[in-house]
Amino acid sequence: MAIATTNPFTGQTEKTFDAHSEEEVERRIAAAQAAFDALRGTSFAQRSEWMLAAAQLLEDDVEVLSRLVTLEMGRPITGARAEVLKSAKGLRFYAQHAEEFLAPEPLADPSAVNASAAGTRYAPIGVVLAVMPWNYPLWQVLRFAGPALMAGNTGLLKHASNVPQTALYLDTLFERAGFPAGAFHSLLIPASRVEAVLRDPRVKATTLTGSEPAGRSLASIAGSEVKHVVLELGGSDPFVVMPSADVERAATVAVTARNQNNGQSCIAAKRFIVHRDVYDEFTRLFAEKVAALTVGDPFDESTEVGPVATESGRDELAEQVTDAVTKGAEVLAGGRVPQRAGWFYEPTVLAGITPAMRLYLEEAFGPVASVYRAESREDALRIANGTTFGLSSAVWTQDADEEEWFVQNLDAGAVFVNGMTASHPELPFGGVKASGVGRELAAAGIREFCNLKTVWRA
Ligand code: NDP
Repeated sequence: MAIATTNPFTGQTEKTFDAHSEEEVERRIAAAQAAFDALRGTSFAQRSEWMLAAAQLLEDDVEVLSRLVTLEMGRPITGARAEVLKSAKGLRFYAQHAEEFLAPEPLADPSAVNASAAGTRYAPIGVVLAVMPWNYPLWQVLRFAGPALMAGNTGLLKHASNVPQTALYLDTLFERAGFPAGAFHSLLIPASRVEAVLRDPRVKATTLTGSEPAGRSLASIAGSEVKHVVLELGGSDPFVVMPSADVERAATVAVTARNQNNGQSCIAAKRFIVHRDVYDEFTRLFAEKVAALTVGDPFDESTEVGPVATESGRDELAEQVTDAVTKGAEVLAGGRVPQRAGWFYEPTVLAGITPAMRLYLEEAFGPVASVYRAESREDALRIANGTTFGLSSAVWTQDADEEEWFVQNLDAGAVFVNGMTASHPELPFGGVKASGVGRELAAAGIREFCNLKTVWRA
């Protein structure tokens, strides 16, 4: 894929960029290593000061930056602005909590290990390579960079090829905030050149958010190098609605859960699994509300759904829906590529999805929802767990026993009850099964890229 900004609203390429040369990549890896040698010796207080300055820069730049996000990947401007501010909040969170999350943990009874003192501490590991996607082009990167730099690691970013201007903004952010030069840089390189960077001995670990094939490829390289890897891959999250739920509220939240960010969120609810007692009511309300969404120019403040980020992404979505409809799925809303410029797809609701259809197992990365009818709670769970993914999940119920049963039995990295899945700096984030390995955010996220060092004294 060319490294270029192409406006999804018009389909026009606005700016192209040359990839960094081998020499430039070498210079940046060397700078990241040198910065690590400097950063690991700094105090939490110092790093915290720089991190708060980076958060402030994001807030100061909110208008310019949110327009850049909207231009490069089509997110409606109100959401883009929220992403900038959430990213700043994430940086502040780690500025405030990193020291507590990485505090040494002494063993309460060192005599049990024949020591006078023993315990663990967290040490940084060095340069970490982050391979990141375009869908939340700031938040995905900064939720890695905040904890990584606060731990004393340094970062190299290989951003998605369709968000180069956002990548270049991030390239200078941390140096502008006061971090040593080289602490965090972007590499403008195609995916084909990631392997060489990951195999470089100065690069100690990697993290990828993106598709399953990209994750599998990166993980196999990391495995052959014995380097730690964190993967946040796709999801096809279930959104279960049981008879005791507030069905009107569930239908309203379902619309946002599926269509926010133009439907391109790994943790978007994608499969709506509804108990037969409330199936007709939920499905009618959901389809009506989806059909009423305001679709249009993402720069317009009133737009709720903009274009899909790439032409290939839009085409993939259209093929998945055509496959389902050809095999008997029912279209309750949308279901077409609209006749207009840009990479739009109508917000869509489908029912009657069967295992023969691609959408049964594949992630739909755009505004396409599938509704399933469940005969019982066991049937709902069977459908919910019946995919290779396990990122997050939502269950709507007012019955405490039922809630506990779903929380225990849903195969997912998170369960949200009577609400939609969202990521929060305060809560761990990640999946099971093919949705990934490891965790981001909270204490777990900052510890992923640390050496948990055991210390024993006679
Ligand atoms: P990709 O996984 O291809 O891209 C994500 C990042 O990985 C980009 O920086 C990309 O670079 C890079 N990359 C791609 N292939 C490799 C590889 N073999 N080795 C190393 N790096 C690689 O996602 P797409 O943009 O193509 O989207 C395809 C699908 O992925 C979506 O439809 C969706 O299902 C899923 N996805 C999930 C996301 C999530 O949040 N979990 C985010 C984005 C996508 P480059 O851009 O240069 O190709």
